[in-house]
Amino acid sequence: MFTPSRAAGLEALTLFAPSAGTVYTRDRNHDTGPSRDNVSGLSPYLRHRLLTEREVVSVVLEQHRFGACEKFVQEVFWRTYWKGWLEQNPEVWRRYRRDVVELGLAGDTGSGDYREAIAGLTGIDAMDAWVHELLDTGYLHNHTRMWFASIWVFTLGLPWQLGADFFYRHLLDGDAASNTLSWRWVAGLQTAGKTYLATASNISRYTEGRFSPSGLATSARAIVEEPLPTRAPIAPAESTPSGARVGLLLHEEDLDAASLSAEHPWFDSNSRLVAIAGSADPDERSPSGASDVVRRFTASALDDGATRALDTLGRPAKVLPDTLPSTVLKWAESERLDAVVVPYAPVGPVQERMLRLGAVLASEAVTLTTVRRRWDTIAWPHAARGFFPFRERIPELLRQQGL
Ligand SMILES: Cc1cc2nc3c(=O)[nH]c(=O)nc-3n(C[C@H](O)[C@H](O)[C@H](O)COP(=O)(O)OP(=O)(O)OC[C@H]3O[C@@H](n4cnc5c(N)ncnc54)[C@H](O)[C@@H]3O)c2cc1C
Repeated sequence: MFTPSRAAGLEALTLFAPSAGTVYTRDRNHDTGPSRDNVSGLSPYLRHRLLTEREVVSVVLEQHRFGACEKFVQEVFWRTYWKGWLEQNPEVWRRYRRDVVELGLAGDTGSGDYREAIAGLTGIDAMDAWVHELLDTGYLHNHTRMWFASIWVFTLGLPWQLGADFFYRHLLDGDAASNTLSWRWVAGLQTAGKTYLATASNISRYTEGRFSPSGLATSARAIVEEPLPTRAPIAPAESTPSGARVGLLLHEEDLDAASLSAEHPWFDSNSRLVAIAGSADPDERSPSGASDVVRRFTASALDDGATRALDTLGRPAKVLPDTLPSTVLKWAESERLDAVVVPYAPVGPVQERMLRLGAVLASEAVTLTTVRRRWDTIAWPHAARGFFPFRERIPELLRQQGL
């Protein structure tokens, strides 16, 4: 269903853009099954930045008035909002990571209910079908993700963290912010006390009668948690690399060297971009690793990003065999680099990896510089409270983007 290349993402965008206006607004909540075309299916491309949010919104705005495609544009900004919110509340990510490990160690992942749920053997026909769809395709419709998470937490009584981990391991678009915070939202943690309860009538209506599960929970008591610490400031936007020879290291959060370097002319008369490399490791998503479907998609997406680096550098990027700091260091030494530039990795496993890398490079006098997309830099500070005040800012954010 999803070919891991920028060309395939652009083709999907071209096909979908004409319906991104009133048709999307009217039909987007329906899940008619894997051959659906009422939603864009762009998330695996956006998540790896094979396509950028800016170009997707730009193409859609060329074909529709803002009023007509506002809903679609808002959905793209949900992704930005979740990332900006997690950036300011990294403790949520730390707790989630800790809980997934502890629940695993405590043997909860071995409980019969959990094993049955992830094998598609709950006896709830809709849940079981969705598990198979997720395992086979690496994708679920948004409404289905909401029903799935709600049934997982409130009908099956399973820990939300294990459900989030299951999604994260199997979704091609698996994203630390969108996934973790959406699960928290369903469970009543994100908007404190407000839960999402899936009902058979809603499922039947929006799956057009494909499913009408019985025995679902009829109430959803919000989970409570320790209060979160005060919001953390967002890290400074970007810095300029120093040194004559600069290398760019792509990773799975951002695989488009061309638009990144166009946005950041970070090499001036004293510094020159002389090499590009890329590495990715989706297994860092979970103690249980990522699914084969996700591994294959990510590896091919990385190859695609590396091949396209030809347009920026005049030769393809080198794909590193692993993400170990020592491997990056070896590449930096072989290219005689003074500085390695990486696209900013938001809170999540890649950010953790970049922190480890920075320490190792520094010990060998190679600097690590992160550059952030302007899209994120201007929007994230507004993701401090709920989505609704953030949404009010969207027209202004678009103007700042020249859209
Ligand atoms: C429990 C749960 C877990 C989720 N996990 C992820 C995840 O790991 N990664 C992920 O990208 N999305 C996640 N989502 C959000 C959403 O379900 C997907 O982004 C969407 O289904 C992708 O399909 P699409 O590209 O056809 O979306 P479209 O409806 O065509 O929307 C266009 C784009 O807007 C963004 N978008 C749309 N809805 C949302 C949303 N609710 N939150 C954030 N961004 C959105 C996506 O980038 C998407 O590609 C999750 C939602 C829930 C309820």
